[in-house]
Amino acid sequence: MPFCPECKCEYVPGITTCPDCGVKLVEKQPQEKQADWVCVGEYPSLIAAEMAKLRLGSCEIAGVLCDGLMEGMYAGVGTMRLESVRLMVHKDEAPKALEILESKE
Ligand SMILES: [Zn+2]
Repeated sequence: MPFCPECKCEYVPGITTCPDCGVKLVEKQPQEKQADWVCVGEYPSLIAAEMAKLRLGSCEIAGVLCDGLMEGMYAGVGTMRLESVRLMVHKDEAPKALEILESKE
């Protein structure tokens, strides 16, 4: 879906210029904000993921846990089967994060 970088209006495919601003439309990039974050590990439990996150934290790498748990809690689900918890870091820090996670304590 093309959109105008100036006024952020979306247009139907085929239109290439914003009629309001006269600027060229660009292709929308879905989840642009998450594009800089990469998954560096998957864990069978939240505790395991938290441990890994703490290890990164001690090396000043900010990790974000990504899973279905929070959604489930918001939805008021009492019992839940956790499939996996993903640990995400900024892509610039991913190589260092992987190094830390792969090194044995
Ligand atoms: Zn515009």
